[in-house]
Amino acid sequence: MFKKILVPIDLSQSDSGEASLVKAVEMADKTGASLVLLNVVADIPNLVADRLPTNYAEEVQQSAAKMLDELSSKHSLKSGSYEIRTAHGQAYDEIINAAERAGADLIVIASHRPDLSDYLLGSTAAKVVRHAKCSVLVVRN
Ligand code: ADP
Repeated sequence: MFKKILVPIDLSQSDSGEASLVKAVEMADKTGASLVLLNVVADIPNLVADRLPTNYAEEVQQSAAKMLDELSSKHSLKSGSYEIRTAHGQAYDEIINAAERAGADLIVIASHRPDLSDYLLGSTAAKVVRHAKCSVLVVRN
């Protein structure tokens, strides 16, 4: 069965991938797998980055980590049963890289952003399904 489940969470969505997190927690409880919660912070274009404080990108990642931590408390995740990761770049690329780095054997991802309800599969989930080396569970939302 699965040992490590990567749950990518888009913090810019108000419900923050709650449906996929709930599903991942359910699977982890049943299988004893550990969870890796991941948020990918978008790269800042150079033109804009030049006008921001030098540690801006670091601060954004720190605040993303804090939000993931709050989410883990909200879902009563037990310490030791999960890790929090942040990355920056293209979401689908970083989700795939993070899965490989963490040795995840399953990615649980939402099918698309909640407001695009007529989409069967959004671009992020589609690319992850196509390119990930491990299994991917797409949670329909
Ligand atoms: P779409 O692919 O329809 O544009 P989204 O990009 O919002 O929809 O992605 C659907 C799912 O992909 C999210 O619920 C989340 O699991 C994952 N995802 C998207 N963007 C990010 C991100 N920046 N960090 C982590 N996961 C993300």
